[in-house]
Amino acid sequence: MLHAKGPMLTVDVGERSADTVDIDSVLERTIGGRATATALAHDRIPFDADPFGPENRAYLSTGPMQMSRTSFTGRMNMTGLSPLTDGLVSTNAGGYLSRNFVGAGLSVLELVGESDELLAIHVTDGPEGPEVEFEAVPELEGAETSRVSAYMESHHDLGPENCITIGPAGENLVRFASVMTFDSRAFGRGGIGAVLGSKNVKCVTFEGDSAPEVEIPDPPAMDVHREAATSDDLMRRQGTTGNTEFINDNFSIPTRYFDDYEFESIASIGGDAVEEKKYKKGACSQCAYACKLPTKDEERGVETEGPEFETVYSFGTCQGVGDIVDVMISNELCDELGMDTISAGVTVAAYLKSEDAFGDAELVHETLEKIAHREGIGDLLAEGTARAHEELGVDNYTVKGLEFAAHDGRTLHGQGLSYAVANRGADHMYGGMLGLEYSGEVDPEGTLGKAETLVGLENHNVVRDSGVICAFGGDYMTDERLEQLFGVEYERLQEIGAEAIERERHFNNKRGKDVADDDLPYEIPDLAEAVQEYYAARGWNEDGTVPDTEVDSVAPAAGDD
Ligand code: SF4
Repeated sequence: MLHAKGPMLTVDVGERSADTVDIDSVLERTIGGRATATALAHDRIPFDADPFGPENRAYLSTGPMQMSRTSFTGRMNMTGLSPLTDGLVSTNAGGYLSRNFVGAGLSVLELVGESDELLAIHVTDGPEGPEVEFEAVPELEGAETSRVSAYMESHHDLGPENCITIGPAGENLVRFASVMTFDSRAFGRGGIGAVLGSKNVKCVTFEGDSAPEVEIPDPPAMDVHREAATSDDLMRRQGTTGNTEFINDNFSIPTRYFDDYEFESIASIGGDAVEEKKYKKGACSQCAYACKLPTKDEERGVETEGPEFETVYSFGTCQGVGDIVDVMISNELCDELGMDTISAGVTVAAYLKSEDAFGDAELVHETLEKIAHREGIGDLLAEGTARAHEELGVDNYTVKGLEFAAHDGRTLHGQGLSYAVANRGADHMYGGMLGLEYSGEVDPEGTLGKAETLVGLENHNVVRDSGVICAFGGDYMTDERLEQLFGVEYERLQEIGAEAIERERHFNNKRGKDVADDDLPYEIPDLAEAVQEYYAARGWNEDGTVPDTEVDSVAPAAGDD
């Protein structure tokens, strides 16, 4: 089976030490990316770890195709114990990091410990494998992400494509802080940025020419690339915002903190409005699909990348803000301060509801700065919606502490089930019944009878995230092509996905999560029964737990390295 190659580099930032660990046997079973990092996290993070403690570990991991010339294959994965959900989360980002990462000669970076000063960590390829230098960077305390990039360029001649970076939000342990790369691409969901902040790691850079030789099967490699380059999908012009109005008009988008189902000013923040502000094409490494959205507004002096659909929702409809430039400003603030746009936008929307201030974009922008620096009301909001909602006097629109994505489970009931059972919480990339329900392939009404399909989608998405392949390449990366690429039958790929999901679930069970956490803050038909159908399809217990005997340890034990 095709899988990532190279050792894991374990960096203890407290000890200022680094070791390479042979993980070939793990990679052979798990491909790379998410499944590999999940196995490592499950086996090496103590079940009772404090997300902000030195014992938590953050993983940055790659897939096998990152040096290929195939579209959709240049992404990277991050995994760790989330300070927002208190369970394992994985999140991935595009950009151009992957080539520099594998060039440094590793497949996984593991960060553990806690530094007593703010650090930049430099990883390069050495004759004996990856090498590490530690640099104290007190001058970058509180720096926004673009200032970190400027520093790395002037002091080390490295570009933003060489770096992962946190902003002030990560340093200040905002529970939904992101890790940024290429200034505008976010490892967004679940607060891994705050995990790096708790370790006092401001930035990690990667550089080298030691990428392993990986032969990518062709076909299908060049077929995928050619089709991506010649596609006339609307998404190539408008990114994920292309269907905003269709979804608003035919289904729903949570509006004014879930008070409403549709937004009357959708046209002014939808795909056409975003495309009007787009000034050039944008892409990720080797991707001919090029769906990114570099946008600017000269009158108000904002230049950003996006907003994508989820940000149009979180800083637009959910806050009652109907001006695309205001949403662009929020998007850029989140990138600079280092915060997930979905969780930040929904949490600020909860605050706007408590203040009866929907639509007040100036207040939104001020509040984002306060959250990142934990000033005034920002200190409460930095805890996220689930921990702040009671004090704000609003309902808690999260699952397992993670704020909802836009695709509304109140009208897409299979997607609602997906949100309820996902180990990551209310995230749209985890299961993704939404595509089948929007298209009508699956009736959006009702939850019963959908569990088997959901299990298949979740398993498939693990394989995608282990590749690490972009979700937007789904139409081109068919099941048959995945078999060709990875060199194994699709059934085996499904098993790899199922094993990773069991490890996530088992870890979370050990932290006390069970059937009570697989719930929604609103009612949809037959949810409790559908959750049991889901457990049965996965072979889990009725209380939502995985038997210990089902999950074996595959990673080298921490301490053996
Ligand atoms: S489809 Fe878009 S987001 Fe995905 S890799 Fe290509 S350019 Fe990046």
